[in-house]
Amino acid sequence: MTEILYAKPAIDAELEALKSRTAKIKQEHGVIPTLRVILVGNDPGSIIYTNSKKKFCEKIGADCEIIKLDESVEEKVFLSEVDKLNKDMNVHAVLIQLPLPKHLSHIDTTNLVLPSKDVDGFHSENISRLYRNDKSETGLVPCTPKGILTLAKHYNFNFASKNVVIIGRSLIVGKPLSLLLTNLDATVTLAHSKTHNLKDLCLRADIIISACGKPKFLTSDYFRTDQSQIVIDVGINRLPNGTVCGDCDFDSIKDQLSAITPVPKGVGPMTIFSVAQNLLHALENSL
Ligand code: NAD
Repeated sequence: MTEILYAKPAIDAELEALKSRTAKIKQEHGVIPTLRVILVGNDPGSIIYTNSKKKFCEKIGADCEIIKLDESVEEKVFLSEVDKLNKDMNVHAVLIQLPLPKHLSHIDTTNLVLPSKDVDGFHSENISRLYRNDKSETGLVPCTPKGILTLAKHYNFNFASKNVVIIGRSLIVGKPLSLLLTNLDATVTLAHSKTHNLKDLCLRADIIISACGKPKFLTSDYFRTDQSQIVIDVGINRLPNGTVCGDCDFDSIKDQLSAITPVPKGVGPMTIFSVAQNLLHALENSL
């Protein structure tokens, strides 16, 4: 029987712990964990994501405000807003919601937020910690890869000595995930749009993690039929009829697999959960 790896049970199992950490910080230090999200423009997806992050932070007792900047905001105004939040002692974490509008898309946002407030875990200093397999646990780990680990822990599967194929080499999912899983003793293959033998790689893998952003791209011929593989579908793709699907053709492949994450209700909520975790982690580091 294929296991469907829903996010909700994994989040529910950790929710009280996050609430308790927030309450403890308030009680012992008189501080409310505070996140500021910079949202430029009116991208519908970005509005949904930022609202979800705000809602979840509030659920654990933290404070989250979305700072909305006009679609046509000047570059210097945008940068000064980030700078202001970096300097504000009462703000413990900052997130720049991507994508930025076209006229700002040349800005490399990677290192704009201070590494100590970098709730997304994108700053070079945080990525360098992953690269070096730094064990101090002071770094902030990118939210989607971190959420995948939380999900795996909840559903009792691990990555050690497993052959893992990651599809997609983006800076927010594929690349940092490849470092994280390598640190966890997985044997990682990082596939991308120029990979020739993707089907063969998938057929040989124990765990396949897809983040290529291609709706229903992974069909039944990419997987064995013996229910021995786990598939984690990171993709969030909107179909012309308005519905959301992952990179996998879920209905046609699920029965072949040992386990699979659904889209929606899989990796997406785990990413939001990681934002809240990173907020607390950033603040705890600074106290
Ligand atoms: P991206 O869009 O920046 O890049 C896509 C990657 O996929 C590239 O590295 C490309 O080489 C690879 N790719 C494209 N076509 C391919 C093919 N035919 N075969 C193999 N590889 C191919 O990546 P992203 O920003 O990581 O987003 C990927 C998907 O994940 C999108 O659907 C996005 O919405 C989703 N996403 C979901 C979450 C979440 O929380 N669930 C978080 C981030 C991104």
